[in-house]
Amino acid sequence: MSQLIDGKAAAARVLAEVKAEVERLHAQDVEPALAVVLVGDDPASHVYVRNKVLRAGEVGIRSLEYRLPAEASADEVLEVVAALNADPAVHGILVQLPLPKHIDEVRVLEAIDPGKDVDGFHSENVGGLSQGRNVLTPCTPAGCMRLLHDTLGDLSGKHAVVVGRSNIVGKPMAALLLAANCSISVVHSRSVEPEKLCRLADIVIAAVGRPRLIDAGWIKPGAVVIDVGINRIEEDGRSRLVGDVDFAAVQQVTAAITPVPGGVGPMTIAMLMHNTVLAARQQTGQAIQE
Ligand code: NDP
Repeated sequence: MSQLIDGKAAAARVLAEVKAEVERLHAQDVEPALAVVLVGDDPASHVYVRNKVLRAGEVGIRSLEYRLPAEASADEVLEVVAALNADPAVHGILVQLPLPKHIDEVRVLEAIDPGKDVDGFHSENVGGLSQGRNVLTPCTPAGCMRLLHDTLGDLSGKHAVVVGRSNIVGKPMAALLLAANCSISVVHSRSVEPEKLCRLADIVIAAVGRPRLIDAGWIKPGAVVIDVGINRIEEDGRSRLVGDVDFAAVQQVTAAITPVPGGVGPMTIAMLMHNTVLAARQQTGQAIQE
């Protein structure tokens, strides 16, 4: 019987730790604060930002929202980022992606103070992660690592296959698994017979954005599967969210698997709160205790 990895429960545990840490910081007159910059009218981005702000409030993190119109210039966005970088009362800065097409995302992300970069997308943090330094780490892969450690304990010596190589999920995921002493394969759209490599894996991380691409034929019996994918599809006359993994079929062969929704999704926001508290601790000169 495959174990269902409960991302909601795991996220609740992370958020409880964060809340306790926020209370400790409050007692030392530090009020952790997260600034969220939203440019344009993308409905999904508005939902994500609302959820982040709500979750911050629940754990006692102060949130500030900066909304700019879709036609805002890159310079206007950069001005907001510069002001937030300079504000000692702001510990975390998140620019919600995607930005409107006329704004260079890389330029904006690189403008964020790396110490306040709670999404972990700044090249200084990306480089630090690959060197095994203690830096702010992208939230979704960090959340996947928590789920894996909760499920398997020590990951040393496991063979992990990451499906997808985006800067946001696949690449940092591979770096974190390597840091945890796994052997890594990363497969992508140019891989030849990716299912064959996948079938060798003790751990499969699916971050592709293709509904139910990964079926039971990709999975070694007894593997642990983490499904990052969030895909909205029309099925049986209704709209529903499914992952990159064919859950019903794959669950038959796995030792443990995350559902979609209720798996990785809740962990992403929880790890954002965790990063905000880490950033607040670092900026106020407090030791990091991981
Ligand atoms: P991207 O589109 O940036 O990257 C997708 C990756 O999958 C690419 O590296 C691509 O390869 C690879 N790929 C595409 N088709 C195949 C295929 N047939 N076989 C193997 N690899 C393939 O997506 P993201 O990484 O941003 O997101 C992936 C999924 O995770 C999406 O569903 C997204 O919604 C979800 N997501 C969920 C989050 C959460 O909180 N749960 C957070 C972030 C994302 P190539 O590089 O060659 O093009």
